[in-house]
Amino acid sequence: MTVYLVGAGPGDPGLLTVRGAEVLAGADVVVHDRLSARELLDLAPRHAERIDVGKSPDGPSTPQDAINELLVDRGRSGAAVVRLKGGDPFVFARGAEEAAALQAAGVDYEVVPGVTSAVAVPAYAGIPVTLRYSSTSVTIVTGHEDPSKGRTDVGWEALAQVGGTIVVLMGVAHLREIAARLTAGGLSPDTPAAAVRWGTRSEQQTVRATLATLADHRLASPATIVIGDVAAQHLDWFERRPLLGRSVVVTRTREQSPQLARRLHAAGAEVVTAPTIAIEDPVDGGAALRAAVAEVGSYDWVVLTSPNGAERFSAELRDGRDLAGVQVAVIGPGTAAAMEQVRITADLVPPHFVAESLLEVFPEAPTGGGRVLLARAEVARDVLPDGLRTKGWSVDVVEAYRTVRVDYDDDTRARVRAADAVTFTSSSTAAHFVEAMGGPAAAAAGSPPVVACIGPVTAATARELGLAVTAEADVHSIDGLVAAVTDALRPERT
Ligand code: SAH
Repeated sequence: MTVYLVGAGPGDPGLLTVRGAEVLAGADVVVHDRLSARELLDLAPRHAERIDVGKSPDGPSTPQDAINELLVDRGRSGAAVVRLKGGDPFVFARGAEEAAALQAAGVDYEVVPGVTSAVAVPAYAGIPVTLRYSSTSVTIVTGHEDPSKGRTDVGWEALAQVGGTIVVLMGVAHLREIAARLTAGGLSPDTPAAAVRWGTRSEQQTVRATLATLADHRLASPATIVIGDVAAQHLDWFERRPLLGRSVVVTRTREQSPQLARRLHAAGAEVVTAPTIAIEDPVDGGAALRAAVAEVGSYDWVVLTSPNGAERFSAELRDGRDLAGVQVAVIGPGTAAAMEQVRITADLVPPHFVAESLLEVFPEAPTGGGRVLLARAEVARDVLPDGLRTKGWSVDVVEAYRTVRVDYDDDTRARVRAADAVTFTSSSTAAHFVEAMGGPAAAAAGSPPVVACIGPVTAATARELGLAVTAEADVHSIDGLVAAVTDALRPERT
């Protein structure tokens, strides 16, 4: 099999290449660095072995020879091996050594280039590395060598004469000496210079200064340093995102969290995925749902109260013709969207996305009665079936799925406690969160300062459980929830 040397990009998981995602999805073994984004490791199959060979802050990193040996070994064993490396594997990353070792051992390998931090990190800080007319070249250089120790492979004085942009990687520790040598080489001390730490991630921080003054700022690794006229540019598309630097916990199921996580990420947040519940088959394995869907044409209405219910329901349909003559009511836009996936448009969506609102707009049964199929979670409130029956409908309730609680490990609890906000999209996520955190007292003490709920029912449950709800969505949807979190975390409010 093949060993893939894959560039993971600088941090934002969205900057992995399509080819990188493809080979990760087929990996048996992933050999990764310490800082590799969890989201990328999650792209590998669940069964894949994950081996961390990265530098730990206090321990030594795995020696390069040992990594080479590991890659050769696993490659020979017939496994599909992904060696995931930050940025691009051939830019200051020893990917060439790994490739040479594989080649010498006769193991097939493929290089999957990545987005290098040398270009992407400045871009996220609003700095283009070249500019027409004024900055016509870019040099990517390592600052890792100690320039004051006499022998160095970098000709800093000569570099000062080139006149283009200089991007220094691994340069924080020696920045003062580097600046001195560039100045000695003739580069003006007033040349704009910037350092970008944790670029492309929510924690990104940029310091803008000059060649003479940049080293006076408190800088820390990992940072990309840009020296040249371009460093004065500030095309502010990323750093003005409202949730930059904030971390937000998503408690929905793993299947449902991506939509909310994507929105929060797009607003600049770091997302802590901490599902409190998992979706499983109902106790009867779905038999009741299957039986009801098999005769769905005999109902007047199908009522769906969650995206999960909608997905499980539509998975049992042969195709849309099964629903000819049957009307479909959904509780809100998320459930409507789940039905749109199978090209079924809801006939009824209430103005407020709660059971009470749906009841209000739901028609009375015609004289002679009519039948409603309600497919929903195993444990749910009885507001809807009771209310529909009061309106004269004959209602069949079938269990489409079951939610089971998930426990948090210590690491997850710590990440939750350190976050700025936690989001609840249902009463059950709030209830399970409290348990996952270790009970009401621990949950109240360990909750982030902002507790945001999708609507009044969820908020009431959260309050009953002792959580201090600080934000509630005006519109009870994912977008509404993101707006509420953004508003609550506005700098002037926290
Ligand atoms: N192969 C990598 C570079 C590895 S050297 C690439 O192509 O990007 C490691 C250096 O890259 C760090 O010391 C830092 O200078 C830079 N770097 C990597 N990720 C970074 C990030 N998210 N923000 C700022 N600099 C980063």
